[in-house]
Amino acid sequence: MSAQDILVLAEIQRDALADSTLELLAAARGLAKAGGGQVLALVFSPDGARHAPSLSAADRIIAVDDPQLTAYSPEPFLAALQEIIASEKPRAVLIGGTSIGWDLGPLLAARLGAPLVTGCKAIEADGDALRVTASFCGGKMLAEVRAKASPAILVALPGSFRPDGEAGKAVVEQRKPAAPLSAGAIAFDDWILPQAGDVDITQQDMLVAVGRGIQQKDNLELAEELAQTLGGAVCASRPVVDQGWLPPTRQVGKSGMTVKPKLYLALGISGAPEHQEGMKAADLIIAVNTDPKAPIFDIAHYGAEVDALDLLPALTAALQAKKG
Ligand SMILES: Cc1cc2nc3c(=O)[nH]c(=O)nc-3n(C[C@H](O)[C@H](O)[C@H](O)COP(=O)(O)OP(=O)(O)OC[C@H]3O[C@@H](n4cnc5c(N)ncnc54)[C@H](O)[C@@H]3O)c2cc1C
Repeated sequence: MSAQDILVLAEIQRDALADSTLELLAAARGLAKAGGGQVLALVFSPDGARHAPSLSAADRIIAVDDPQLTAYSPEPFLAALQEIIASEKPRAVLIGGTSIGWDLGPLLAARLGAPLVTGCKAIEADGDALRVTASFCGGKMLAEVRAKASPAILVALPGSFRPDGEAGKAVVEQRKPAAPLSAGAIAFDDWILPQAGDVDITQQDMLVAVGRGIQQKDNLELAEELAQTLGGAVCASRPVVDQGWLPPTRQVGKSGMTVKPKLYLALGISGAPEHQEGMKAADLIIAVNTDPKAPIFDIAHYGAEVDALDLLPALTAALQAKKG
């Protein structure tokens, strides 16, 4: 335990570790190294050892077990976190910018009277303070701030830190809260999952994404054919979903899903900050747009200034011919 330690809240999403946790561990390693502290991963699980391989970038893994911690609910999560923070006294607590993180981070900071920075894109030690670059207005603006008191509660923007694959030799410390946790005013009942038969776009390697430039519902068929040829799925910007052409489970962006495919082919999507928020961590982004000034070209690895409706059938035919 050292006042320079960095605590990472590992998030379990329906039994699996969230990708954002690996990003947090990478950010935490840099910070801990700079201050001479350690990275502590905190996971709420009755079987911390099960998650140890994924959390091996931490120096220590603390697993806390209580029936109230099996699914997210603010009160028990806060109580368990507070207990660990009181005993470990970390310099900062890193939380992923997931639905849970955005809920929990501000509550935790308010409870502790601690500084809070959300939308963190970069974090570095600056003497006794932490210098944080944070995203504002859906990424239109950045702010540079310094968190001067400990522990700083930092909610990281997904996709901002690259998991570094470093592995430590963490041993899992399995604990129970000092007293059994109570449920609090909000009780978790059940997950509402995508309807059976629908595709989980967060798990796809190949995504064909369509925006308003697809122009009419019938043209979705062209995108479906290409997605099938690539072995992937179709997703969309918000206007396509708002018009009822695709279900909300296919929407990418701030108010939709965050995806990280190997390929994100953006067709007729302008690249508004709210859309970019959900897809900019894709390994390869190819943008197709008739407007050369479309912001999507700013983040695309490759771009084509062509009509998506001409390109779609031609690309599908070319790929199918190549497959034979
Ligand atoms: C609080 C909030 C949350 C939001 N959440 C989301 C979200 O989760 N996801 C999301 O996507 N948006 C979200 N938005 C909306 C966002 O601001 C944009 O309005 C939206 O992303 C625009 O979608 P688009 O790119 O499909 O449409 P447009 O911005 O209208 O762009 C269409 C693009 O298609 C191009 N085009 C037209 N015809 C063709 C053609 N034939 N071939 C090629 N290109 C063509 C045009 O040049 C244009 O660039 C949110 C907004 C707010 C305020």
